[in-house]
Amino acid sequence: MPDSTTRKPLPQKAFLRVAVPVPLRRLFDYRMPSIPVYRGQRIRIPFGKRQLLGIAIDSCDRTEIDPDRVLSVTEVLSEAMISEDILDLLLWASGYYHHPPGEALVLALPPSLRRRKSVFRKSSLMDQFWQATPDAPALPGLRRAPRQQAVLEALMRSSRPLDGHALKATSGILRKLLDKHWITPVEPLESGLIPEQPLVLNQEQADSLKAIHQAAGSFQCLLLEGVTGSGKTEVYLQAIDDCLERGLQALVMIPEIGLTSQLRSRFELRFPGRVGVIHSGIPEKDRRTVWFQAAEGRLSVLLGTRTALFTPLPRLGLIVIDEEHDGSYRQGDGFRYSARDLAVKYAGQRNIPVILGSATPALETIANVALKGYRHLRLSQRPKGIPQPRWRIADLRSLPESRRLADFTAHSMEQQLAAGNQVLFFVNRRGLAPVLMCKDCGWCYDCVDCDARMVLHRRSSGLYMLCHHCGAQTRVPGQCALCKSASLIEVGAGTQKFEAELQQRFPDYELLRIDSDVSPARRTELFSRICDGRSQILVGTNMLTKGHDFPHLTLTVIANADAGLFSPDFRAPERISQAIIQVAGRAGRSSSGEVIIQTRHPDHPLLLSLLREGYGAFARKNLQERLQHRLPPYAHLAVFRAEARVNQAARRLLMRVVAYRRQNADEFAGVELWGPIAPAMEKKFGRFHQQLVLCADSRRRLHRVLGLVIQKFEAEPQRSVRWSVEVDPFDLY
Ligand code: ADP
Ligand code: ZN
Ligand code: ZN
Repeated sequence: MPDSTTRKPLPQKAFLRVAVPVPLRRLFDYRMPSIPVYRGQRIRIPFGKRQLLGIAIDSCDRTEIDPDRVLSVTEVLSEAMISEDILDLLLWASGYYHHPPGEALVLALPPSLRRRKSVFRKSSLMDQFWQATPDAPALPGLRRAPRQQAVLEALMRSSRPLDGHALKATSGILRKLLDKHWITPVEPLESGLIPEQPLVLNQEQADSLKAIHQAAGSFQCLLLEGVTGSGKTEVYLQAIDDCLERGLQALVMIPEIGLTSQLRSRFELRFPGRVGVIHSGIPEKDRRTVWFQAAEGRLSVLLGTRTALFTPLPRLGLIVIDEEHDGSYRQGDGFRYSARDLAVKYAGQRNIPVILGSATPALETIANVALKGYRHLRLSQRPKGIPQPRWRIADLRSLPESRRLADFTAHSMEQQLAAGNQVLFFVNRRGLAPVLMCKDCGWCYDCVDCDARMVLHRRSSGLYMLCHHCGAQTRVPGQCALCKSASLIEVGAGTQKFEAELQQRFPDYELLRIDSDVSPARRTELFSRICDGRSQILVGTNMLTKGHDFPHLTLTVIANADAGLFSPDFRAPERISQAIIQVAGRAGRSSSGEVIIQTRHPDHPLLLSLLREGYGAFARKNLQERLQHRLPPYAHLAVFRAEARVNQAARRLLMRVVAYRRQNADEFAGVELWGPIAPAMEKKFGRFHQQLVLCADSRRRLHRVLGLVIQKFEAEPQRSVRWSVEVDPFDLY
């Protein structure tokens, strides 16, 4: 590893303190091995009846365990050490999010390195391209090592770098030559790809780039706010170029795997052969290779989703977080962390700038311009001089419930389609109909295990019912379970219903539907049909709206904006505003576009403010409200969630926190409790859920109380109730 040479081993003391991947919020002590152990080194240790892979954290002279019962380490593994930076970041995160350190540290390693020692590095040496260094001895110089001599000769004769296979080398030979500094790894330019030239920036882009340039070498958060198509990615590319020029590496975070392929090719074109990608969809072997390339400093740009943040990058000089508002940066179960927030923390720790880019920045991020001195950079125009799309509201109130397409919408569609353009229809639900209801008594078909309606779906073999929460599938009932009436009607509409209706109405145009019911392979195929302009009408969920460029799209219809307008979650207005602006951003990337919002609440203040004044004004107003009501970012939240098979058991556990506060009023001073209450879906997957929100002005107080409660819960193992804690929760209800 690159830094094992500069790192000092942990001081030789009696005990070694180890992070073990088990759900306990503490470290474990073992006997100190006699050989040197580094902080961040992988070690195998006995734990109960198992052998586990732990990470060395520290050494100490005292332990709380009876010294005679302290166990010995099984093996100290020499490869794939976790870098100190990543170790510090994850240990900090484990404290901040109150998550067991051993489980948090697991994220620092590709899955195959979490389990066992392996020999992958050999193959990575073989796959690497090499050239001889000026230190290599003149030929013939190595009579006593003919095989090393042969490899070196081959390299010196070649006009271009060769990999281990072409050199007929072995990893052992390469290792020896490398250790003598006679050969050096190089990044081959991929099959003659010539880097694409940067574009000439417009004034706003140039100003932004200058600000980023000025921030180089020190910690600074830069919010790059610009509508879709305003040229943010071009700014990232040039900022990264600047960073690579200085011999440093750059990390680009994106919210979802689905976005990697388009961005990857844009980055590859600019930096051929220097870009690595890490996300959960990459085969494990490649992931490991990229991890090592990054760690060894051979890779210049790393592009990836959440966990890419924990990849070792010894010369990291810049972090870019694209679509920073996106909820996918939040890990939703297990270790519930925000990759965006941790990336900012990490940039601080490494003393480098971080760019947060979005067309619709998170309100927290906007607030941080004032609260934490983030620098606000704006791109207000689209570089190609294309005007912003025109917004219109289509009032659905005069339409009967059974109709979903306002005349106004249909008319605009006809015009656009006739002109050879594409139309995107955004629907927030998949399936055919979200509710199946009895016309005579109002009974609705619900999932047995969840507080949720079964959703009617269609597939080639026929109709079926599906629960979107637990995945339960059943046949379509023939009659009402209460009154036995056979008149069951479909209420509401999902993507499949729009697909059918629009196809009927516009039979001369090709229509495609994209949602999570469509397999990933098929989706890729469909996306290419869309980009080619072969399909004219696109129906889909937000899966359609993220990142993808549709060159011929001029009209975007938001089929029904009402679903999010009345949610109890204080973040709901922010989310729906972001969704609307993001969907709208798909329209008119190449020529003037139009956005139609269909609603039964055309006077809703949120819609009006968003359309008349834009996202920025909405954000200022909403932040004002949050300030008044003392909600984040002006207060700090955490939530305890509990679930049990038995009704009330989860509630009883959380009620103990309430009782605990009564006994410890001092500790809880300044910390409000909201609840326990049932979340919107109390019963899910056959288990009953409850939650208790903690709210405090002071983060420190909040964390102290969390620590106390967790300690109490952990001390008495809960058999029948599962509980978890989330700091800075993203979804509240
Ligand atoms: P964003 O990331 O904000 O959505 P992009 O960087 O993808 O925006 O830019 C949108 C389009 O405009 C792309 O096709 C890009 O090549 C082009 N573009 C960006 N900056 C410029 C520029 N300075 N001059 C000309 N075209 C540009
Ligand atoms: Zn009935
Ligand atoms: Zn269910």
